[in-house]
Amino acid sequence: MHIDKYEEAMMNCRFCFMCRHLSTIGQVRCTEVDTPRIRAAMLYGLKTGTNSFDDSDFVDALYRQELSACCTHHCVNHYDENGLAIAARADVVEAGKAPEAVKKLAAKFAKSVGWSASGKGDVAYFLDETTASDKQVVAAAKKLFAAAKVTPKTITGGTIGKVLKVLGYLPEAKAAAEKFAAFLKAEGVKTLVVSNPAAFDALTKDYPEFGVKLPCKVFCFSGFLNQAKVKFTKKAGGLYYLADDFMRNYDGCGCPEKLLKTLKADLRPFGTNDEESYCCGEGAIVLDKLNPALVKALAEYVAARADDPKKDKIVVLSAYTKKCLKKYGKLNVVTMEELAASCL
Ligand code: SF4
Repeated sequence: MHIDKYEEAMMNCRFCFMCRHLSTIGQVRCTEVDTPRIRAAMLYGLKTGTNSFDDSDFVDALYRQELSACCTHHCVNHYDENGLAIAARADVVEAGKAPEAVKKLAAKFAKSVGWSASGKGDVAYFLDETTASDKQVVAAAKKLFAAAKVTPKTITGGTIGKVLKVLGYLPEAKAAAEKFAAFLKAEGVKTLVVSNPAAFDALTKDYPEFGVKLPCKVFCFSGFLNQAKVKFTKKAGGLYYLADDFMRNYDGCGCPEKLLKTLKADLRPFGTNDEESYCCGEGAIVLDKLNPALVKALAEYVAARADDPKKDKIVVLSAYTKKCLKKYGKLNVVTMEELAASCL
């Protein structure tokens, strides 16, 4: 089983309650089942024969997880309870026990694999569907490329595999990754810039894990701006930066923090601690589609921690998190691209 690779997490987490306060779903639902300890105990039950994927409550709990990796990141031993959860989903799918809603979503995304490119040159900007749907972010990215004196070709299209991986469809995720790598090669891309942290994580972590080699160097948008040495004339000023699930908890690159310094951001502490995930299930990619009521609760949880919800300037990295926090939390949120563009 895929979970066997994460035996260390399963064996240790099932007796530990140290990170329960960082278990985002457990916090908003006030349920023990949504903590790493109980999930690990339930998965251990699979090994001992006291639990099975025939129990739909168990499977639902696995697909309810926000996959922020917050508990893994802050665990003193960094036990990968997040990887365990993703592996468990792959086992659910292989056992043919995926919920209908998950099956439908995976089939839709598997069909979406395919891209087109517009423009010339060997520098490309991958505009994933989530980012592309936010016109302000797209406009800000365009301004920033102009300021960097770079005219990239723009790649748009369907999934590059991340959503299929987190839903537990590993062969399909790997096939999408292979196809995207071949597409980039055929397009002659040597430098690829991405806005979506999930896409960055897929390209820099999932692809090597799948054994898929990319023909290009990959930059997150902040990393691209850092090396492009764009001149910013205005200070970003006071703001609340909500650390991104992928860029912090999945061991990101540190580029956003570096860029915030360049922009002279005066960072204010958000909420009661800087450990929790405030990204509304960004790591689960499609939690808003599988469980919108839960995402609403996550956004309201974040909004309740804002000092001045209407006025506080909140900066996030993903268009997904921005969308959720604005829609359900009514917060004043911009992405890093928008912040940087406002400093030009
Ligand atoms: S991730 Fe670490 S802190 Fe959390 S339950 Fe597992 S062992 Fe405990």
